[in-house]
Amino acid sequence: MEVKILSAKFDIEGANKLEVAKQHGAYANLDRLFSMEPADVIEEVKKSGLRGRGGAGFPSGVKWGFLPKDTGKPVYLAVNSDESEPATFKDRYILVRDPHMLIEGIIICSYAIGSHDTYIYIRGEYTTQVKELQAAIDEAYEAGYLGDKVAGHDFRVDVTVHRGAGAYVCGEETALLESIEGKKGQPRSKPPFPAVAGLYDCPTIINNVQSIASLPYIIENGADAYRQYGTEKSPGTHLFGISGHVEKPGMYELPLGLPLLEVLEKVAGGVWKGRKLKGVIPGGSSTPVLTPEEAKTVTLDYESMAQHKTMFGSGGIVVLDETVDIVKLVKNLINFYHHESCGQCTPCREGLGWMKKITQKILDGEGTMSDVDLLRELCDNIEMKTVCVLSAACTMPVRSYLDKFRHEFEAYVTADESSVAEAK
Ligand code: NAD
Repeated sequence: MEVKILSAKFDIEGANKLEVAKQHGAYANLDRLFSMEPADVIEEVKKSGLRGRGGAGFPSGVKWGFLPKDTGKPVYLAVNSDESEPATFKDRYILVRDPHMLIEGIIICSYAIGSHDTYIYIRGEYTTQVKELQAAIDEAYEAGYLGDKVAGHDFRVDVTVHRGAGAYVCGEETALLESIEGKKGQPRSKPPFPAVAGLYDCPTIINNVQSIASLPYIIENGADAYRQYGTEKSPGTHLFGISGHVEKPGMYELPLGLPLLEVLEKVAGGVWKGRKLKGVIPGGSSTPVLTPEEAKTVTLDYESMAQHKTMFGSGGIVVLDETVDIVKLVKNLINFYHHESCGQCTPCREGLGWMKKITQKILDGEGTMSDVDLLRELCDNIEMKTVCVLSAACTMPVRSYLDKFRHEFEAYVTADESSVAEAK
């Protein structure tokens, strides 16, 4: 089931170094790129159907097309390498094992959108990754792939790595821009979208690492080759991080559209220790959980996930076995989002704290049925009433746990230990 497009060089010793990467095709298509018109590059990416790999799945070529023309302002490219969504660990492979694929993608994107300055915003905790990435950037400058004349062509690309300081919210694109500008990482209201008014109020394209790293393959092989993989509306391949209670957790590149359960069984070795499946988090902690019944019919693409009232997200699949205590899981989840709230919006700052207290009360055996209802009501009342989607990233999954595993919350309320165990 696995394919090797993005991950083609991941297992090659030393492929993070320029010399080895070049032996395996890195930077080989730059002359071809510069012989194309920028508009044709955008068209090819639109035709490929590449969708944003950070989680939202917004078509990349379409996003580039939103840039206003002739504003007289510089156009910036920001590469979102914050990768902070719990259970998401795909971009870090690119950063460490094939950083030149990312740099080549940056050159392609910059040429297409007419940008000369790129900021790679990397999460603060990625210490090894930042070292490896900077080393690759330095090598690319030395070899003339970055700088005033990219590979001898009359086109400048400069790349600056900007380290975050550990705030989850800085992965949100406008908070990321604020952070690069040296301000407190707080999301801005949208619109205007960054494509119109982004970094320093200039048109800015923000793309995820994996989205940008997909470009060299598309430019080398064409949109049709990319479309051989995946489905009509979700073309291509995706790096999936499969974790949790499976026999073979890991990062796997797969075409989109495969049946979830088949992937878990054949690729990740199935639920570990011969246990039963309790649920699957399909794409990072912010995506609503799937029950085993729902998991039977879902496929790994944006449309199927939406049909199942969840989201494809960031490709971080988490398997929950029968021993998982859903109420404890929910408490852990709310803790995380409450801690990471920037505090700008009251429903998020106060509401998530309130949800945390109620869940703790339920766990302590002091909750009532109306607390369970209140928790559910809070999900509806907090969501979409804030500047960014951080609070929704908490309430959407929590609502799904409450709706699909309500009996586990009720068992804590009614409760002695045996009924909690039985509910599980
Ligand atoms: P979004 O749908 O609001 O936007 C997606 C992208 O499209 C953005 O770049 C946005 O600027 C652009 N866009 C949308 N409409 C536009 C328009 N009319 N004009 C111009 N540009 C437009 O989603 P989002 O808030 O950026 O991201 C949410 C997703 O992030 C979630 O689905 C979640 O899966 C994911 N996420 C990922 C991580 C991670 O670590 N990878 C962390 C947290 C969340």
